[in-house]
Amino acid sequence: MSAGALPDFAVYEAPAHWRAIEFISDLHLAANLPRTFEACEAHLFGTDADAVFILGDLFEVWIGDDTRDQPFERRCVEMLRQASRHRVIGFMAGNRDFLVGPALLAEAGVERLHDPTLLRAFGGQWLLTHGDALCLEDVEYQAFRRTVRDAAWQQAFLARPIEERAGIARAIRSESRARQSKAPDRQVWADVDATAACRWLDAAGCTTLIHGHTHRPGEQALGGARRRIVLSDWDLDATPSRADLLRLDAHGLQRRSPLGRR
Ligand code: MN
Repeated sequence: MSAGALPDFAVYEAPAHWRAIEFISDLHLAANLPRTFEACEAHLFGTDADAVFILGDLFEVWIGDDTRDQPFERRCVEMLRQASRHRVIGFMAGNRDFLVGPALLAEAGVERLHDPTLLRAFGGQWLLTHGDALCLEDVEYQAFRRTVRDAAWQQAFLARPIEERAGIARAIRSESRARQSKAPDRQVWADVDATAACRWLDAAGCTTLIHGHTHRPGEQALGGARRRIVLSDWDLDATPSRADLLRLDAHGLQRRSPLGRR
């Protein structure tokens, strides 16, 4: 997206009886990271929140809903299906799992969240996004994003055999890792563009942006009353492990550890 373009904002009105909504993102679930999967499952099954909104990159990679009968993908679908019987599970696409489609969401009982979404809850409002669309400094990534978010590109990609898609996804990930290793200083990697974030907030009539994607948890004042609050990624298989969530209730936002953190 160019700096001048504004996205469409979807509005999500939380039901009046809700008491708490939780946000998580960037779990990057993968078969070779079992503790991260277990922590996610423990949290989704154990939380008392009325809703858990997943703000993108739940999966390390998702190459089409027709993979959902493969062993690990099936476990993920079952986890979501069980969790969504007890509370609302919302899913916003990230840059790794933008190919999550209606078949998976229907089977898992998960609600799609548009990116960005203006959430109205507990008398306040919060602007939710994955965050990648705001990392404008990474011009190469933004061009890639425009390509892969195009409906015709997605249709052609999904028509390829699963093995071929898996190979393409691996090639894209290793290219992205190679690009990052050329810029070893994390600080020079593109972050959310503050000017663009302010324009989004002003257009939405909101002061707080909640996002993931950058794996740089924290809070930044953006001028005036505006601020952005950034989720952590999850990696319970790493030492030290990483995982947090934001919990919103009538008292405001609070950063917490998930129930399944060990
Ligand atoms: Mn991401």
